[in-house]
Amino acid sequence: MAEETANTAEKVIRIAGSITVDELAQALGLSVTALIGELFKNGIVATINQRLDLETAEIMIEELGIANVRLERKNTATKTTDGFRKELSEKATPRPPVVAVMGHVDHGKTTLLDNLLNKKTVETEAGGITQHISAYQLEHEGRKITFLDTPGHEAFAAIRQHGAMLTDIVVIVVAADDGVKPQTVEAIKFAQGANAKIIVAINKIDREGADVPRTMADLSTHGLQPEEWGGDIIMIPVSAKTGEGLEKLLDSILLVADIEELKADTNIPAEGLVIESHMEVGKGSVVNLLVTGGELKVGEFITAGGAYGKVRTMLDFKGKPKGKAGPSTPVTVTGFKELPSFGDRFVEYVDEKAARRAALMNAQAAASEAASANVTSTDLLRMMNTEDNAKSFNVIVKGDVLGSVTSVVDSLKMIDTKGEVTLNVVATGVGDITENDVYMAAGDTQMVIYGFNVNVPTNIAKLAVRDGVVIRNYKVIYELLDDAKQSMGDLLGEEIMETDLGEMKVMGVFRTTKAELIAGGQMLKGKLVPGVMARLRHGKEVIGEAEVESVQKERTPAKELIENEVGGLAMKTEKKLNLMVGDRLEFFSREKKKRTLD
Ligand code: GDP
Repeated sequence: MAEETANTAEKVIRIAGSITVDELAQALGLSVTALIGELFKNGIVATINQRLDLETAEIMIEELGIANVRLERKNTATKTTDGFRKELSEKATPRPPVVAVMGHVDHGKTTLLDNLLNKKTVETEAGGITQHISAYQLEHEGRKITFLDTPGHEAFAAIRQHGAMLTDIVVIVVAADDGVKPQTVEAIKFAQGANAKIIVAINKIDREGADVPRTMADLSTHGLQPEEWGGDIIMIPVSAKTGEGLEKLLDSILLVADIEELKADTNIPAEGLVIESHMEVGKGSVVNLLVTGGELKVGEFITAGGAYGKVRTMLDFKGKPKGKAGPSTPVTVTGFKELPSFGDRFVEYVDEKAARRAALMNAQAAASEAASANVTSTDLLRMMNTEDNAKSFNVIVKGDVLGSVTSVVDSLKMIDTKGEVTLNVVATGVGDITENDVYMAAGDTQMVIYGFNVNVPTNIAKLAVRDGVVIRNYKVIYELLDDAKQSMGDLLGEEIMETDLGEMKVMGVFRTTKAELIAGGQMLKGKLVPGVMARLRHGKEVIGEAEVESVQKERTPAKELIENEVGGLAMKTEKKLNLMVGDRLEFFSREKKKRTLD
């Protein structure tokens, strides 16, 4: 159902995920017939009760040229965009800050976190990039600080979006010998967008080329003014390698946390966000949670999205058992009967019955939202593109944990296919490639199964070979994305490329038969060599094409004729072409080139 807020300048329509043709027409003040007519023009045959998704409705509004109506998505029961609660009781108590470390690749995020946490993880990362969001806690001056280990590359935009809801402070790492780079700028934008406080760690000051003032100047041109220069951003020179400056960095984090007065209520039912989830043999669902309010205890019943369960075991980030966890604490729990999704909000319920009922309601809300839109923007865009003959690339995505599946799917969707290839994610799932995946892909030559950090059991690989199904398994996301880009590029086929080489003014036509044309003239520009193509032009009209067989200069065979030179040429033709003195010959080469998405 739609909800409207009217104001004179702009009308905002809030919709849960879809809106019927009837409702949209009413909201826009149009007749249903007019809207159906407009949809029809865009290739959609719709009835009055048909549901359009938000994006389709937006496109229609644009097509109709209606400028003063804006659509907004209503928050639904299953996903939430809030991390920590803003409205607190008087009893709220201080909580640890949640800090994300971000910055350009190789500027030292991992080393910094490692040094802070005294834990070696660099070597174990595939491709040297942190693959999952994880959370750690450390103690400084007797106080806790929670770190979200957000992956650093733009391919993980989805994960960072989820992390944004939780992040109080973003530590931006900039290498003092390299300065501000694209992902530094991105991190600044992210922090600003997430309304997080920024602290800059100017890293690698132990290096010879390190230049702290220059890095500060660089940062200030990007809107971050250092405190030293009268601005409001704390910038601390550090060396993640030697540890210099790290104490000060932690002091600053606590200082900012104090200024921000970060608090949470602990006397409410526990709540928070799912930041990671996967299945483990013998344990069932293993779910990482970050508590944002209340206190989570072993034995309590919780719901996250459509999943619920009793907290069977709870471990801290080091894997040590934990009886209860308060706000800002990351924990790993088992006991969910199904796998909740990454980014889902979890909430504690008094008993199993209440938790089950809440999960059921969440699942129903999600299902009806998904099912309710029977015209989606993908359909619409596909229909709008039918003339362009958009090709389809169908994929099944399997990943080790939900977070990576989400990231892979989101990143695949971000590949710019210039509207020529439509990506269809046919199915997604957590876990190894299965027989079912292969069956689903069999018979569709345009379908690829992508695995990310999963296994392809030998029998499944054999099955795939038998059925001609392509399985591509990767451990590094960029390789997977490169592969997808290449595969989509392959669907584009070849294009014919013509390159202009030169032009001649015809001064004599010596022989014209069905198969041959011999002429002479002066080169106006470029170069003529045997083997190229010639376009015969009479005024504006093109009278034909021919292949240049040989070139002559001063009545002897020549390798080339260059600008201003006079000479003759013999061309192979397919029919008699009526070339005349004063006409032009345009020389060009023609080759077939594989099209790519670059
Ligand atoms: P990330 O991609 O931002 O996580 O960067 P890494 O932590 O993987 O660091 C990239 C490289 O820079 C590694 O070879 C580190 O050893 C090196 N590095 C990181 N911090 C420092 C530092 O403070 N000083 C020096 N000399 N090298 C560093």
